[in-house]
Amino acid sequence: MSNWSIIGHEWAVNLLAQSVANGRLSHAYLFTGPAQVGKTTLARAFAQAILCERGSDEPCHGADDACRTCQRVAQGRYPDLQIIAAEKNTIQIEQVRVLQSDAALSPLEGRFKVFIIREIERATPPAANALLKTLEEPPPHVILLLTSHRRDLALPTVLSRCQIVGLRPASLEQIQGALETRGAAPEQAELLTRLSSGRVGWALDALAHPELMQTRGRHIDELLALTTDGASGRLGYAESLSRHTDAIEETLGQWATWWRDVLLIQSGNPDGVINLDRRVQLTQQALLYRPEQVEGALADLMQTVHRIKANVNARLALDVLALRLPKPAVA
Ligand SMILES: [Zn+2]
Repeated sequence: MSNWSIIGHEWAVNLLAQSVANGRLSHAYLFTGPAQVGKTTLARAFAQAILCERGSDEPCHGADDACRTCQRVAQGRYPDLQIIAAEKNTIQIEQVRVLQSDAALSPLEGRFKVFIIREIERATPPAANALLKTLEEPPPHVILLLTSHRRDLALPTVLSRCQIVGLRPASLEQIQGALETRGAAPEQAELLTRLSSGRVGWALDALAHPELMQTRGRHIDELLALTTDGASGRLGYAESLSRHTDAIEETLGQWATWWRDVLLIQSGNPDGVINLDRRVQLTQQALLYRPEQVEGALADLMQTVHRIKANVNARLALDVLALRLPKPAVA
């Protein structure tokens, strides 16, 4: 079994390591899976395994004895590996044109040029069409590693040209272990693991950047304040959230864990709660609502997420959600 220093995704690592080992590389791979599940991390490790000077099926480990290529890949300054990500929320045609003119040239050092293109669902239609041309007739030395957390949004023509590597969330034990290895106290590791829902990237980010946990705390506090607020306060919040497009899914996801926890406590299953650090508050909340109210709130949230993904006007969907939030029976 190859050691790529990747948390989880064993089968994918084995599959990719084998194709490196026997030299059967495709020209294009598409890594799919939920946000922050580790798609780009795996794509980067794969690129490193392809480019590594040692020619085994795994990249060099550690900074000290890594080959010069792996060192520079880790520092983001290896000339034959480029990472393309959305600028201002979209991947634009100019970015694909730069990629194409770069791809047309021979590699500067190794046998391959590798391009990682993150979140291809963000490509504008002209950019996606241009990218398709490269996927149809890639120069022999080019390998494209695409990522997408919305497989359903990728063009079928793009999907059909790629080897698809579908990633699932890592197990909770793997995530908790990874957090503890990186110095998290057991209680903190357990909380972050539960909040991560299997998204390794989120868990490691939250450990490294405490402000992410502060934001999550703020989102929960805002939810609690909203339930006791009147219509104008609720609509004001919906308006402001609708303008922070990037925060909508995370906020609603956190609210969903909250209502789910309240419901678990109401149904006598407190061991399963996600928001472990707020057990006392959750227990108080469980007394303030009827279970039907909480179930309704959870259903409303799911429907709102679904509507926004289906491109319903976010402001409208959030207005409806905010107005329908339950009021506590005893405030
Ligand atoms: Zn190496």
